[in-house]
Amino acid sequence: MGKVSIVAGGIRLPGSVRVGRSRVHGRGVFARLAMPGRRKLGELAGRVVPRLGLRRAIRTEPVIYYVALNSRDALDCREGNAFSHLNHSCEANCYLRVSGFRVEVYSLRPIAVGEELTVDYGATPHAGGMQCRCGAVSCRRLL
Ligand SMILES: [Zn+2]
Repeated sequence: MGKVSIVAGGIRLPGSVRVGRSRVHGRGVFARLAMPGRRKLGELAGRVVPRLGLRRAIRTEPVIYYVALNSRDALDCREGNAFSHLNHSCEANCYLRVSGFRVEVYSLRPIAVGEELTVDYGATPHAGGMQCRCGAVSCRRLL
């Protein structure tokens, strides 16, 4: 059987968020609308690729470009949608949930207009070894 390649979500910018300059790192994802907590905001778009050989890239990327889906596969989000610009925060307001070959973005709490959306990479299937500059009081410094 050939390799399966799935494109999830498409590359359209979800209307509820915009990509802008982040205080945390480079570009980030910001709320255009007030969002309730515990709500699905969208999905990371990307291509399913083998995890083999991604280990170093996953460790060193400051932004989520690869999300582990299972022991063999990862979602490559380099040509994904706005959510590939989600930055890490130790006090994140969103989280990622892997469901098969999909990576869903959920809000953890209500989010105000203009607030940056962040996820805790340590709590998501994203490898560690990264310096953190999120500025949160509870910052763990090293992920
Ligand atoms: Zn931090």
